[in-house]
Amino acid sequence: MVRAMGKMLEIDLTKEKIAEKRLEKDLVSKFIGSRGINAKILFDNVSPETDPLTPENYLILGAGTFVGTMIPTTGQLTITSKSPETGLYLKTNTGGHFAAGLRFAGYNIIVIHGKSKSPVSIIMEDNDVKIKKTPELWGKTIRETNNILKKDLGDFEIAAIGPAGENLVKYANIMVSVYHAAGRGGAGAVMGSKNLKAIAVRGSGEVEVDDPETVKRISLEAIEKIKDKVKAKVYLDYGTAATLTYTNESWSLPTKNFIEAHFGKCDILDGHYLVEKGYMTKGGACTACPIGCHKFSSVKNGRYRGFSGGPEYETLAAFSPGCYIENTEAVLKANELCNDLGLDSISTGGTIQWALESYERGALKEEHIKNLNMKWGNEDTVIELIEDIAYRRDLGDLLAEGTKKASEKIGRDSWKWAVQARGLEQSRVDTRSAKAYALTFAVNPRGP
Ligand code: SF4
Repeated sequence: MVRAMGKMLEIDLTKEKIAEKRLEKDLVSKFIGSRGINAKILFDNVSPETDPLTPENYLILGAGTFVGTMIPTTGQLTITSKSPETGLYLKTNTGGHFAAGLRFAGYNIIVIHGKSKSPVSIIMEDNDVKIKKTPELWGKTIRETNNILKKDLGDFEIAAIGPAGENLVKYANIMVSVYHAAGRGGAGAVMGSKNLKAIAVRGSGEVEVDDPETVKRISLEAIEKIKDKVKAKVYLDYGTAATLTYTNESWSLPTKNFIEAHFGKCDILDGHYLVEKGYMTKGGACTACPIGCHKFSSVKNGRYRGFSGGPEYETLAAFSPGCYIENTEAVLKANELCNDLGLDSISTGGTIQWALESYERGALKEEHIKNLNMKWGNEDTVIELIEDIAYRRDLGDLLAEGTKKASEKIGRDSWKWAVQARGLEQSRVDTRSAKAYALTFAVNPRGP
């Protein structure tokens, strides 16, 4: 139906070589979309012995089969690599508009390997692709990076890393279209290890389909059906933050590093409350999506004044019930910092929770925490630790390794409350009550 599952770019940052290749028919028909094709390329080129943070690792960005058409909710980007956090397969998805930009530029997949000698960015405008030295971007946050690049280039879609990726935090994100996180497993650290700060793309083409009328008819029917669903309406109005209360009421909301499964202050975090109090507003949709679950959030005054995308359910759950913070504005600041520094909020919150419990149980000592107040719910400590993780300062340097490696380093049985599988911190669902998730987490090759 969609004609052009066609071209990929292979970029060797060590040799500064850019090659355009056709995707072989056999590869496309056997492995279908970007998740399958990316995985096959990774499997064929990266060995089990490869250290994920060496030039030999691959970073593969793929647009899905229907990206660039009007088929709803298909605008996703899949990023695949070997994870520096787990040492295993890393697959992460994100929305935004980068994948569509890639398709409109004429490509399905970008394969990146090697390592640049100094910080660079990849700039793609249709088939004009350059590796550009961008030392001025190194050290910049996600928003600063986007602002500088857009001032220079104009309206490009950008995938970038923040300071966390540069500092090889094992769960650093790649942030796409400013506020869309490609998290889980440290793709941002892989990008940082290659001295690659950003990829900017703009395309002027179209994605052709064999039977445009049929695609249009089916898409419009699907859009109407999606819009009619209660869940879609809730997501449009309140985002994924709307699911917090439901999860809490079913006793599946991990609280205090999974010690408990219910949080008494959930009412000051739920999407309904955030909208009602003016903290959260509509934030648009990914390419070709009629749901538009994306949100913006802001704190207008006071010490937590700021603005960001989200917050999503997972971020709220990680910092509020997870760390026991009962202040809405502090949680919104935690969300803003993770987005801007390029940190996976699930792993960041999960690792901080592990540290709080480790101190409570005597596994972390005064020499580890210096002057931090490690009591549950201390918002100053949580905010400080987020920044310390991104810049690998003090205790943040240990926490930047993730709970599995950090618990192996400090010992004292602290692995027992490191809530992770295969080295990846668990998503914010309590599998003691949400049992189907337990199976999903057990069999997912990426981890939970
Ligand atoms: S706006 Fe929300 S529902 Fe729509 S594609 Fe993006 S993430 Fe998915």
